[in-house]
Amino acid sequence: MGKKLVLAGGGHAHMTILAHMRDLVREGHEVTVVQPSDFHYYSGMGPGMLGTTYTPSEIRFATRYVVEGMGGSFIRDKVVRIDAAQRQVILASGQVLDYDVLSCNAGSFIPFDNIHGDTSNVFTVKPIERLQEAQRAVISLCATRTRPHVAVVGGGPAALEIAGNVRKLAKLRGRHEPRITIFAGRQLLSRFPERIGKMTRESFASQDITINEDGYVDEIRNGVIVQGERHHHPDLIFVATGVKPSRLFADSGLPTGVTGGLLVNEYLQSVQHPEIFGGGDCIDFEPSPLDKVGVYAVRQNPVLLRNVRAGLNGTRLQRFDPGGKYLLLFNMGDDTAIFSKGPIIFRNWLGFLLKDFIDRRFMRHFQALER
Ligand SMILES: Cc1cc2nc3c(=O)[nH]c(=O)nc-3n(C[C@H](O)[C@H](O)[C@H](O)COP(=O)(O)OP(=O)(O)OC[C@H]3O[C@@H](n4cnc5c(N)ncnc54)[C@H](O)[C@@H]3O)c2cc1C
Repeated sequence: MGKKLVLAGGGHAHMTILAHMRDLVREGHEVTVVQPSDFHYYSGMGPGMLGTTYTPSEIRFATRYVVEGMGGSFIRDKVVRIDAAQRQVILASGQVLDYDVLSCNAGSFIPFDNIHGDTSNVFTVKPIERLQEAQRAVISLCATRTRPHVAVVGGGPAALEIAGNVRKLAKLRGRHEPRITIFAGRQLLSRFPERIGKMTRESFASQDITINEDGYVDEIRNGVIVQGERHHHPDLIFVATGVKPSRLFADSGLPTGVTGGLLVNEYLQSVQHPEIFGGGDCIDFEPSPLDKVGVYAVRQNPVLLRNVRAGLNGTRLQRFDPGGKYLLLFNMGDDTAIFSKGPIIFRNWLGFLLKDFIDRRFMRHFQALER
């Protein structure tokens, strides 16, 4: 007999399930996807969209269109609670959905919430679709002010990609060149090999991007406050301080891991509820901690499809193997990217072409479902 499958979020880790939805429907199952937007935006290309390398339509996947075209149901809403005992999800609108199998790909958010006062000039880098609004704000600022000041709070890859792409945007579309400062805490890219930090500094020096390493920004209130005392007054602020898994699981009283994500076993299955699966940034993988990078979400795709199907049809589960070292490519905004895999680290235009090729290929592969 057909069963009810609910997908909470149609992010990266669910792409293969979405691609095979027609088969699941043919097998007699009822598939429902819940997502706050009709589109899913690929965050790896978000900074590139800000810098105008990509248009919004090049970096997004038409989730609703694809789901409905394949015989599934799409609900534009947000899952706010999972009642695992009743096997129900509760949506922000109050709607309640029953499930036999639930798979979660609800992503992550920027946990910096010490933002007060006028927030109209503050942009967190998630959700990615907000970068379109940020782009318009940068263009307008650079048209009306001479030497405006743009701040990027954060010292990791997302922050540096945003800073470089604000520079690119201003060069291409701005009347006045902005001053750009990246507030990087105590040390820019502290978790990465020194050579990557050195290459970033070289790129930023040539792009006139200042690195502030005076300490952590602890508040945004009519400007940026570093360590409770040093006040800076930029005209526009980006917040890219790292991500945390969706609060959905903690709010639902489900077992969570060290970062607050749904705690899953080697089968990407909740350690307490075998009918709940999850992938991408919203999980904590119990066998070994995984970085919050798209590559793991991509690698989890086939396993999630197989295991969700196992949950529906009673077939065998497959183990998820996170694989070895992964490739890092940072888009610096100056048509170069930093390439890093194991001991091989370099920065040049080839790195950028490679990132561009990989990202466009990924999007094209899944956007083909829209035709
Ligand atoms: C600026 C930036 C640049 C990055 N660049 C790279 C890069 O170059 N390479 C790389 O490997 N990684 C990169 N990352 C990290 C990478 O993008 C993430 O690891 C990846 O997007 C995680 O995919 P995901 O599907 O888990 O989450 P997301 O991409 O966030 O997708 C989650 C989806 O779930 C939906 N959703 C959220 N909450 C709910 C809810 N309650 N109910 C239902 N649906 C919900 C959202 O609308 C979204 O569609 C970057 C991250 C950022 C922020």
